[in-house]
Amino acid sequence: MRIGVNCGHTIGGSGYGAVGLIKESEHTRQVGYALMEKLLSEGIAVTDCTVNQGISNLAHLEKIVDLANKEELDWFVSIHFNASKEHKGRGVEIFTYQGKRHQPAVKIGENIEKLGFKNRGIKNGSHLYTIKNTKAKAMLIEVCFCDNKEDVELYQKVGVEAITTAIAEGLLEFSESLDMVKDAKKELPFEDFVRFVGEVAIKDWKERRIMLPSVVVAQAIKESASGTSELARNANALFGIKKNGWTGKVYTKTATEQRPDGSYYVVDHTEWRAYNSWEESILDHNDYIATRSTDGGKTLRYQPVIGCENYVLCCQYLKQCGYATALNYDESLINDYIEKYKLYVFDEGGEWCLE
Ligand SMILES: [Zn+2]
Repeated sequence: MRIGVNCGHTIGGSGYGAVGLIKESEHTRQVGYALMEKLLSEGIAVTDCTVNQGISNLAHLEKIVDLANKEELDWFVSIHFNASKEHKGRGVEIFTYQGKRHQPAVKIGENIEKLGFKNRGIKNGSHLYTIKNTKAKAMLIEVCFCDNKEDVELYQKVGVEAITTAIAEGLLEFSESLDMVKDAKKELPFEDFVRFVGEVAIKDWKERRIMLPSVVVAQAIKESASGTSELARNANALFGIKKNGWTGKVYTKTATEQRPDGSYYVVDHTEWRAYNSWEESILDHNDYIATRSTDGGKTLRYQPVIGCENYVLCCQYLKQCGYATALNYDESLINDYIEKYKLYVFDEGGEWCLE
């Protein structure tokens, strides 16, 4: 199964999206790229049909269709945000060719409705250039209204992740190849992934005393979706470490960052460190923590993290030292990973197992 995802509109000039309380072009990218990552992590092949520039709106739409029609896609999905004249429009609507009520499209509408949005239903999108001209079954999702206060507040409250999950689950629920995909995922059981990272982390902790094993494992699970993310698969990178002075291989993809006010933004063509193996990635991550400095080594950025033996403090220090822009990064490491999966067993020298 292969799904083409288009983050709607360009990032400037012709074809730029609506500007409401939030900018459509910015958020189509946040949702679209998160969706691509989610689909990849489910073992679905993805084609990025996003076009950032065009000499005209039509030229930009033609480029999108070219990207989509180059591959045998099962679905073409274009992400948009709506706007209305009086800024009163609310809710999700999905366009399909002739307004066909394809099961995934209906399901996605229902899933987004469950998050609290009004469901405006499936609409006839036969007039829309990308819907009309893509060979694959196509849907254009207007997630919600970017110029309506209630919608934007709800969107920011539920977050990109929830929207992405709503869309991915709708697409996956009706995919015939889903069982196959699930089987393929069995090749990499979560338990084995955790054990692998744990072993490397413990060995390095004993030798170099840089970062507490439970925290390394939690970060690896979170940042690589247990080894299934695009970076983990294509670049052997379990942690999203940007190039930052690295002289080895790099891998280029977009980055999603969070501002202090909670909103997100996307940075195109970000260069990430790439490795020959996951082990190399884990060791380099520890090197990075041990040596990262912005003044030639006089002060170490992660000094409080190094050798810290308390996982709660260690996670808080990581956040305080600016490891990640995500606002709840430390709490998530502690609650969603270390405590949920009892990863602290790795720090205590015990035998970890998944309960
Ligand atoms: Zn749009």
